[in-house]
Amino acid sequence: MNTGSCLCGGVKFSVAAFEPLVGHCHCNMCQKFHGAAFSTFIEVKREHLHWHSGIHLLTHYRAKNDSERSFCQRCGSSLLFESKFNREQGTVEIALSAFDDKPNVTPDAHIYLENKVDWYTPNDSLCKYQGYRKS
Ligand SMILES: [Zn+2]
Ligand SMILES: [Zn+2]
Repeated sequence: MNTGSCLCGGVKFSVAAFEPLVGHCHCNMCQKFHGAAFSTFIEVKREHLHWHSGIHLLTHYRAKNDSERSFCQRCGSSLLFESKFNREQGTVEIALSAFDDKPNVTPDAHIYLENKVDWYTPNDSLCKYQGYRKS
């Protein structure tokens, strides 16, 4: 069990189990959403995510590609991402930085490097994809 929260502490949640995929996403939308060079989301099955407080503080933004991002309306913390694919699979992606304990997970790849910012280049040994992961 791992617990997480937003910056103001209004939104609190816990996760009972993680799915294996944890990617650093360099797409433009993640850059904007996080205000950072890339985002790191971890996939979780819906039934493994439990809200403890502040669900009324969650505000949602649905983009043209039908993906939906959720954030705290009080402090602006980026928390959730859900694509059409996630909805079909019954999963959601949670911002890894929102966890307060240290989840025992290791990101496996950089994705959407075609949109990478000029001022940061990953030099680790993770798999690197210009778009989404290739199966
Ligand atoms: Zn907050
Ligand atoms: Zn992204």
